[in-house]
Parts: sequence; structure tokens; C-alpha cells
Amino acid sequence: MDYQGILNIIEKQLEYTKTKGNVANYIPELAKVNPNHLGMFLKCTNGDEFYFGDYQVNFSIQSISKVYTLALAKEIIGDDLWKRVGVEPSGNPFNSLTQLESENGIPRNPFINAGSIVIADCLLSTLENPKADLLRFVRKIADDNQIEYDNKVAFSEKKHGYRNVALINYMKSLDNIDNDPEDVLDFYYDQCSLSMNCKQLAKSFILFANEGKLLNNQDRVFNTQSVKRINAIMQTCGFYDEAGEFSYRVGLPGKSGVGGGIVALHPKHYSVAVWSPPLNKKGNSELGMKALEELTSLTGLSIF
Ligand code: GLN
Repeated sequence: MDYQGILNIIEKQLEYTKTKGNVANYIPELAKVNPNHLGMFLKCTNGDEFYFGDYQVNFSIQSISKVYTLALAKEIIGDDLWKRVGVEPSGNPFNSLTQLESENGIPRNPFINAGSIVIADCLLSTLENPKADLLRFVRKIADDNQIEYDNKVAFSEKKHGYRNVALINYMKSLDNIDNDPEDVLDFYYDQCSLSMNCKQLAKSFILFANEGKLLNNQDRVFNTQSVKRINAIMQTCGFYDEAGEFSYRVGLPGKSGVGGGIVALHPKHYSVAVWSPPLNKKGNSELGMKALEELTSLTGLSIF
């Protein structure tokens, strides 16, 4: 497969595509990003790498981090995790409050804010040093020790995170949060603030395409059943109330973040990350979705 040729075509197409989207501005620090950034990086399970544009420029990965924390929590807690968070698509925006009330404080899935906040609570209860342990884990699976949190972004979100405060307090009132809400949110804002580039993201997700094994030494991090489950949740819940649209247009499991990044993977073949900051109305990168739709169209390959 001529992946580099296909990426070159995608780059040309996107250069001429006008976006109607806007950069996320409800976290003031994110509003400062240049909307014209565009980068893509594809890593194959045989080690080959293909890329274009700003693939080495760091950005705020935001909700993409929800995959890392879910994978860690699933490993530590096992199936008991599903007593506190579901695995159904929400059909609602990522920060929606409404479903929580009718569903007794049990979030629909781990990739909406409420669900990831519950996961953060679980990690706070089980990890010795959650912030350092999460960073160590991400660095290990990305095989890159340069990865860091962005404290400015975390602080900016904390200052304006009124909705997340509402979500966590509501869940606390229904006994689905064990720790102090402020401590949980501090950890949640840290995870979302991880600053990474497309290359680091694709490298960190290759184990989900490689049956749970690292690529550099084939060490197993997750068993095949965990990988199956996490990929399934990415497929059904990775894009909030646009999960169906992403599945229909792209046909791969993936996860987006309001920093404009999207990571997706084709089991046994590759992981791919794309970054373009302007978001569509559902909070997903407009050009990022288009890039991935082109990728699976031009290669003629998707999981379907
Ligand atoms: N940190 C963001 C929030 O809680 C993450 C949202 C996202 O990327 N969709 O709102």
C-alpha cells in the first residue's frame, strides 16, 4: 500500500478545503492556537511511518487522554469498573448533564466527560501517584520520554470548568465519586492537558492495533480481550453524538479531543493521528474527520 502517496493526496485536498469550524474557546488557553495547523502521522504495525505537515508540533490532546485512563483503569480494576460507568453511546454532547439524572449518576460511557471523571476517581483511589503514574504509562506506550503535561492548559480549564464541577457534584451526591471532587477534577484536567504531537499519539496507540503489544519489543501491555473492548468503545463512543457519523464515514475505531486531534486505528494494520484545530458543531476536528474519511476511501480498507 502506498501510504505516503495517499497521505500526500490528503494533504493537497485539505489545503484547498475551507473549514466552517472554530477552535475551542471555552478553555481560554486553547483559543490561542493557530487554526491553520495541519498534520498527520501514520504508523504501521510493521514499523513503517508516513506523515505530512505539522506532525511534530505539540497540541493539547484533551479527550484523547480518556483512552489512556480507561485502559489503565480497566487493567487495574477489571470488570468491576462497569458497575460505575456504562458502555453505551450517549447520543449527547460530551459535557451533557441531562442523562446523568435519569440514569442515577452512572455515566453512559467512559469517553464522555462524566464517564472519564469517574475513571479519574477510580485511578485516584488505586494509583500511588496518579499524575506521575499516568505520565509514565503514556511515555512507555509512546516510547517517548519527552511527553509532558501543560500546566497552563490545566489551570485554564480548572478556572472555567463549571460544567465539570456540576457533573462531578451530581455524581458525588449519588455516591458514584469516592474522592474529594476537587482532587478528582485536578487529576482530570491534568490528563486532558497532556501535550503531544501526531507522531507521539500514533505511536502511543499502535498497541491497540497490535493486539495489546508494544511495537519496539513486543512486550504485552494489555490482553487481547481488553484491546477488543477498548477498541469497541472507541468505535461506538469515541466521537460523542457524532460516533455514528464517524463510523459511517471513516469505519475505524478512534477518539477525538477538543484540541483538534483525532487518533484512529486499523487493527493489525496501523494507527494514525491527525490534527487540525477548527472543530465542527459536535466538537470534533472538521478536517481531521475528512482526512480519515479520505484515508479509508483511498486505501479501500476499513474494519468493515
Ligand atoms: N477537558 C475537556 C472538557 O472536560 C475535554 C473535552 C473534549 O476534548 N471533548 O471539557
